[in-house]
Amino acid sequence: PSAMREVAIDVPKVRWGDIGGMEAVKLKLKQAVEWPIKHPESFRRMGIQPPKGILLYGPPGCSKTLIAKALANESGLNFLAIKGPELLSKYVGESERAVREIFRKAKAVSPAILFFDEIDALAVERGSSSGSGMLTDRVLAQLLTEMDGIEQLQDVTILAATNRPDMIDKALMRPGRIDQIIYVPLPDEATRREIFKLHLRNMPVSEEVCLDNLVNSTKKYSGAEITALCKEAALLALQENIEAKTILAKHFHHALEIVTPRIPDSLIQ
Ligand code: ATP
Repeated sequence: PSAMREVAIDVPKVRWGDIGGMEAVKLKLKQAVEWPIKHPESFRRMGIQPPKGILLYGPPGCSKTLIAKALANESGLNFLAIKGPELLSKYVGESERAVREIFRKAKAVSPAILFFDEIDALAVERGSSSGSGMLTDRVLAQLLTEMDGIEQLQDVTILAATNRPDMIDKALMRPGRIDQIIYVPLPDEATRREIFKLHLRNMPVSEEVCLDNLVNSTKKYSGAEITALCKEAALLALQENIEAKTILAKHFHHALEIVTPRIPDSLIQ
């Protein structure tokens, strides 16, 4: 069985507007990827090159994957996604072949974004005790080789995501490989507000529910946890009465006790 069967090529449907807030991160990625595609002559004029690869790092559930998809969609790029651990096949030589294959595919459908989620699984610092040792070393070497085939990779932008940037091998972070690093933080107040608005838009929320209260009660929540909170409140309303027509403030209060923020401080900057 090949790791490649996991890889689907598609243009994702996520739009920038589907991602609440995160304005600074969106802008940085537009500058890095969208602008060079839409205005190549401006970049030539300024004598600057777009980044070859970008690392998105930050706590889990804070929209790294959503952002990668929106970027591809809004820039008119094909999108190939693979999770680091999926590439670590137990068959000898299989993992390296999977790496070669995914780059070949990306070139074939370029312009494209090649998204490596959980890149830390592949790119753990060589010689470190975590990771699967020899195998990750070989897969990482193959990854570096592919990234250095830079001329042929002209229209392929590498995006990688991790919660653990400290685990990533320095060789991957050289200029010409992953040469831009963007922190994707926990949602701030403005972003939490936008995430709530997006999720509650299609839910029958009672007028007594105060958005400000929800925003203030969810410090340290990730976007994914806010999503889970909204869903939990709706389920609690149904649990009380399967015919319920609205979600009340008490359901949100109860949901706040059930869905609590889980991100360890060590992952927050
Ligand atoms: P991981 O590190 O666990 O892979 P991630 O940072 O890639 O997480 P996503 O998978 O993009 O996070 O987000 C998880 C889910 O959380 C999304 O599918 C979405 O429902 C919700 N979410 C997170 N951030 C936002 C946001 N800013 N706006 C709307 N929804 C969000």
